[in-house]
Amino acid sequence: MSENDFQLDNQNAYDNIPHCLACQSESRHIPAMPPSGSTTPSGGPVLGGAEFVGSYPDPLVTLDPPLPEIALIGRSNVGKSSLLNALVGQPGLARVSGTPGKTTLLNAFRLPHLYLVDLPGYGFAVAGKAARVGYRKLVTGYLRERPTLAGVVWLLDVRRDPSPDDFTIQELLIESGRPVLAVLTKADKLSRTAGMDRAHALARMLGLDESQVQLVSSKTKLGVAELGESILATVGG
Ligand code: GDP
Repeated sequence: MSENDFQLDNQNAYDNIPHCLACQSESRHIPAMPPSGSTTPSGGPVLGGAEFVGSYPDPLVTLDPPLPEIALIGRSNVGKSSLLNALVGQPGLARVSGTPGKTTLLNAFRLPHLYLVDLPGYGFAVAGKAARVGYRKLVTGYLRERPTLAGVVWLLDVRRDPSPDDFTIQELLIESGRPVLAVLTKADKLSRTAGMDRAHALARMLGLDESQVQLVSSKTKLGVAELGESILATVGG
């Protein structure tokens, strides 16, 4: 086994992200996506009319027409497909609880003024080394270099503390300088007070401003309309 193999297998799955770059950057701050500014109660989708465009292995694939993009990223099973479906009000658009096999493809969905780009879920134990390397290339290439990327919606389960993989993604987000909104999924599993306590705690753990952390539930639609508004504000729609 080469030294590289050793490192790959013993650090987390995205360990070629050059942490030194993040360390050298002047600020470890993650910029925010604009808040929704909404005072209306949580409700259904404000985004709609989405259609699946395609699955791509190339992080720099050209989408036609060129439109700003919002990426969704999170660990496998965090509720990303469910949230995407809730956001656009189309229950069958993204597959829920599919086998986490398509680790090296990004899925693009076109809306009237933007693309939603579903990055594959991370952190599943069964993936082999080749899949992990492919994942790493796709996500690092996409977050670092994609010219049309306007913002990143980072999904974390409200009940879980961030995993080592989550912290690796955090480093990559810091390095990329992209505006980020962290959404805490499955908020229906906690009481309102417990959810707010977790939101404060997770914001602290992730070094995010409280306004960058939002509770969501695809089941009750809590926070879904606000997320849609924040996405539209980010792309200027
Ligand atoms: P993905 O792997 O991140 O795309 O996650 P999925 O959307 O497939 O969801 C994983 C599991 O979590 C499924 O069993 C969903 O039904 C469940 N789930 C997703 N969102 C919610 C939510 O807001 N509330 C609850 N209670 N369960 C959810």
